[in-house]
Amino acid sequence: MESLISKTYKNDFVTTFAGDKTGDLTPRQTPGVLYSTVAPTPVSKPALLAWSEELAQQLGILKPITQQEIDVLGGNFVTESMQPYAARYGGHQFGSWAGQLGDGRAMTLGEWVITEGQVWELQLKGAGPTPYSRRADGRAVLRSSVREYLMSEAMHYLGVPTTRALSLVTTGEPVLRDMFYNGNAAHEPGAVVLRAAPSFLRFGNFELLNARKETDNLQQLLDWTIARYFPHITGEDKVLTWFKEVIERTATLMVAWQRVGFVHGVMNTDNMSILGLTIDYGPYSFLDDYDLDFTPNTTDLPGRRYAFGRQPAIAQWNLGCLAGALLPVIGKDALLEALETYNTLYWTKYYAMMGQKLGLDQVTATDIPLIKQLEETLATIKPDMTIFYQLLIELPLSLENEQAAESHFKDALYDELKPEERTRLYTLLTNYLARLNKNTIRRDDSQQLMRQANPRFILRNYLLHQAIEELESGKEDLFRKLQQALKDPYSKNFEEFFQARPGWASQKAGCSMLSCSS
Ligand code: AMP
Ligand code: MG
Repeated sequence: MESLISKTYKNDFVTTFAGDKTGDLTPRQTPGVLYSTVAPTPVSKPALLAWSEELAQQLGILKPITQQEIDVLGGNFVTESMQPYAARYGGHQFGSWAGQLGDGRAMTLGEWVITEGQVWELQLKGAGPTPYSRRADGRAVLRSSVREYLMSEAMHYLGVPTTRALSLVTTGEPVLRDMFYNGNAAHEPGAVVLRAAPSFLRFGNFELLNARKETDNLQQLLDWTIARYFPHITGEDKVLTWFKEVIERTATLMVAWQRVGFVHGVMNTDNMSILGLTIDYGPYSFLDDYDLDFTPNTTDLPGRRYAFGRQPAIAQWNLGCLAGALLPVIGKDALLEALETYNTLYWTKYYAMMGQKLGLDQVTATDIPLIKQLEETLATIKPDMTIFYQLLIELPLSLENEQAAESHFKDALYDELKPEERTRLYTLLTNYLARLNKNTIRRDDSQQLMRQANPRFILRNYLLHQAIEELESGKEDLFRKLQQALKDPYSKNFEEFFQARPGWASQKAGCSMLSCSS
């Protein structure tokens, strides 16, 4: 274990690549480089609100006790061996090429070596402007920082690949935001999150280099990324092999999101991790009611490009953008062929995952109609997804009639069922019970499988909203409780949170839908 201050940080990214080292923070295009060196802008009163002890243990970081250590987390102190930088990247946003974007309010402080070959980037979010801030201020409000801090940890404990969050610091400084984009800007408390991941590289880092015809930079970034993060990949075809692995990891990530009902909300290619991690938590949401068309992002209306049901297909579209960036290095046919493997990979993983959610011993082609029937039924009756699957674990092995079916699931239903919906549910459950009957595993093993695949606690937006409102008025109770609950999402330890979204939250901003304002 080592302190944030005494550690010798590595700065491989900075020392390897061409960078803009002027220190000029004026927003601008920075052709020819992969990053700009920056310095965090100090804040008036950094105070530690939250610390992820388990992650700290994993990385070997001592909990800060001195103000100077906390100052590192708030951007007020940069140690001697840190060379902070903001990365230059581009991206496709809502389907269109957006040009240069870059880390507008994130900056990597340095690389934390755990052991040789295990190195994590420590990155501040909200620590002030960079050359990539465009017209924004480089800051983050407490609201969005709490959401990023809690949700990255929640996803980790759910078993979903994700960047992590080590600390949450309040800055003592207000930040001006127009939360609803309606001309009513107001001050909100500011905060800084320190997030950590082996790498924050995005599809967009590669896309921008190709778009600007910086082929040497592109080739160098590819070589470095593969050697550092995919060391098992070598040989002539390594870039193609690597692309196939990115496809596979992305498919795995999409299956994980669909399993827990996570909707990212802004699947732009600058928000797609090259390591297949969930990255950049903004207007995300878990599904409450099962709705394939649900998007939590107000900017995503009316197109609903990033709706729950479209995420897997959008991921493939995004992989297509990454493929485009590789054209100077790999032939088009090989790229297209690789891209086509996505569907098979995704569906194979998806059905295996659904088998676990349903407690099946295995999934064969004959089970696919049942899974489709389940999805169609859920999409019709729109029960609370999380509660539905929890109740499914406890489903009685025989159901007397339609009424019994509805009544078993009553805590998951947002509306009373229409007669045809009730019939539909009953038919589904009858088929499901018949399939369970053919299981070669015991009922408790089947239920055990289901308990491992179906979370009981999810960090719902309305809970976050309440915790944030409380924090803004100086109360920490709910925030602390959520911080505990998210560590054990498959248990029955936090039954107070085991309930469907309350009626008042369904239309309230921040509880169902959110803007990108953060
Ligand atoms: P996002 O939609 O959060 O992924 O952000 C898209 C781009 O806008 C990225 O380049 C961000 O760094 C940048 N950005 C978002 N919010 C801010 C902010 N408050 N200050 C500076 N840049 C920002
Ligand atoms: Mg982003």
